[in-house]
Amino acid sequence: MSLKRVIFLGPPGAGKGTHAVGLAKDLGIAHLSTGDMLRAAVKAGTPLGQEAKGYMEAGKLVPDALIIDLLFESMGDDDRGWILDGFPRTVPQAEALGERLASEGQELDGVILFEVPDKVLIERISSRLSCPSCGAVYNRLTQPPEKEGICDRCGAQLVTRKDDAPEAVSHRLEVYKEQTAPLIAWYADQGKLIRVDANREIGAIRQDLDRIFA
Ligand code: AMP
Repeated sequence: MSLKRVIFLGPPGAGKGTHAVGLAKDLGIAHLSTGDMLRAAVKAGTPLGQEAKGYMEAGKLVPDALIIDLLFESMGDDDRGWILDGFPRTVPQAEALGERLASEGQELDGVILFEVPDKVLIERISSRLSCPSCGAVYNRLTQPPEKEGICDRCGAQLVTRKDDAPEAVSHRLEVYKEQTAPLIAWYADQGKLIRVDANREIGAIRQDLDRIFA
């Protein structure tokens, strides 16, 4: 049975977004990234975006109630399945998701934990480039765009996200350890956790993911 409802869990810079984009496209399931949703709301200047902006730029988590509503609206009743990228990030978010799935008679198929040492995460994030227009992510060293500074997908000028600045990154890693890492034991206890060594080349990680999803 191929997996249909999956969470990608792991620290910032672990490669969740990169792999979620590729896998979701190939499997025909949705890629639901709460970070992308929030960045779109900030860009559009919606009330939610205005509220979220300060938290995001400081590398803090946006309050649970905001993010839970935002995600649940876009989950709709799509039965194709999904990869959740960047959600849940706290125990209350995981509880809310569990309740929602139970109320719909659905179940999580798995939680994939992307494991990468801190030192590598900091190196990766500091060389990350993002497209402010379509959300594509590159890396100056390991995954550069074809034309320097320009998005391959949509041609926009690439930028360094404010929360990828060095001060914000170390704070985001602390926030991950304090608020998100407890979800590792939470999902392990439910027998859902699948660990992936994400400190390898993109192709090798993808092969593991393909085996897991098959
Ligand atoms: P990401 O692109 O997943 O690294 O998310 C960027 C930022 O958006 C995070 O640093 C948080 O400020 C915010 N964010 C994204 N997802 C969540 C979430 N599930 N809960 C709280 N804040 C979030």
